[in-house]
Amino acid sequence: MAGIIERYRSRLPVTDDTPVITLNEGSTPLIPAPVLSRIIGGDRKVFVKFEGLNPTCSFKDRGMTLAVSKAMESECRGVICASTGNTSAAAAAYAARAEVPCYVVLPAGKVAAGKLAQALVHGATVLPIEGNFDQALQLVVEIAEKEGITLVNSLNPYRIEGQKTVAFEIADTLGCAPDSHFLPVGNAGNITAAWRGYRQYHEEQVIDSTPRMYGCQAAGAAPIVHGKPIENPETIATAIRIGNPASWKGAVEAIEQSEGEISAVSDSQILEAYAHLASKEGVFCEPASAASVAGLLARHREGKEICPEGGIVVCSLTGHGLKDPDRAIDGLDIPEAVPADLDALRKRMGL
Ligand SMILES: *Cc1c(COP(=O)(O)O)cnc(C)c1O
Repeated sequence: MAGIIERYRSRLPVTDDTPVITLNEGSTPLIPAPVLSRIIGGDRKVFVKFEGLNPTCSFKDRGMTLAVSKAMESECRGVICASTGNTSAAAAAYAARAEVPCYVVLPAGKVAAGKLAQALVHGATVLPIEGNFDQALQLVVEIAEKEGITLVNSLNPYRIEGQKTVAFEIADTLGCAPDSHFLPVGNAGNITAAWRGYRQYHEEQVIDSTPRMYGCQAAGAAPIVHGKPIENPETIATAIRIGNPASWKGAVEAIEQSEGEISAVSDSQILEAYAHLASKEGVFCEPASAASVAGLLARHREGKEICPEGGIVVCSLTGHGLKDPDRAIDGLDIPEAVPADLDALRKRMGL
C-alpha cells in the first residue's frame, strides 16, 4: 500500500513539486479487541488502531513523512528533534531515506532501548542531555532557528497534518466515525491531529458525526489534567513523560469541541492495560500506548459514559511493544534451560 501522502494527497499540503519521502507508512490495522468489548459490555465494540505496525513502529511516521518531504521541498541542511524516543527513530529513518543529516536530542537514560537503537542504526547524531524532554525541546527549537536546520518536532505544522491521516483511515475502515476515541497524551500533537482529521472529514461530509476524544495522561506527567506544567514529570511510560506539552491548546480544543475528557491514569493502571493487551488480545504495544486502554478501563470502572450501547470505541496503540524490551521482561522470570530430552520437556510442561 502507498504511504499517506499518495493516499490522501488532496487533503494534505503538498503539490506536484513536493518530493515524497516515504516508507509506505500508514494503513495500520484496526483490530477488534473482543475481550475488552466484553468487559465494557452493552454490545459496544472496542477496536485498537495498532500504530506500532508503521515502518519505524510508531505513529510518528505519519507526521515524519510529510515533515521531511516538505523539508526537502525547501532548502534543507538537515533535520533536528527533541524526543522521548519515537520521534527520533522516525526522524532518523526518514532523514536516512532523504539522505540528509539528522540530529536527535534525548533525555539521557530515559529512552527505551529499541528506540535508541533505531536512531543509531539509521545514522542519526544522537545527543543525550542531562535533562528531560521539555528541556531538550527548548534547546532544539533554538538551535534549529539559529543554524537553519529543520525542526521536525510537532511544532512543525506538517507533523500534525500528516498525523491527522489516522482519523481518515479509521473512518475509511469503519465506514463511519467511531463514537469515542481514546489516545495517550504526551506532547499532545497526536490528539490534536486526530481531532483535526475527524473535523476535516466531517466538514467534507465523508462522515456525519465526530467521536468524543478522550485523552489519557500518565498520573506523574499530567499537566493538562492539573492545568499547569509539571516540572519533573515521572512515569514508566517514557513516551509520554512530558511536563509542558507543545500542543496543549490543541488537546484542550479537541476535548472541549468533541465533548470528551482528559484524565490521568496511574503507572499500575497502564501496566495492567499493557499486560491485558498482550496476554488477552494478542497485541503487544509499548507502555505509553496502553494508557489509552487504561483510560477506557478506568472510565468503565468509574461507571462513566463511554459511548451509547452498540457503539464503537477506538483506542490508539501508538507504538510497538518491542520498542521497550526491558519493560516487557522486567518482573518476568526467564525460564531456565532444560536438558534436550523428551522426558525433561514433558516434566517442565507439567504433562
Ligand atoms: C509520541 C508518543 C506518544 C505521545 O504522542 P503526543 O503526540 O506527544 O501526545 C504516545 N505514545 C507513543 C508510543 C509515542 O511515541
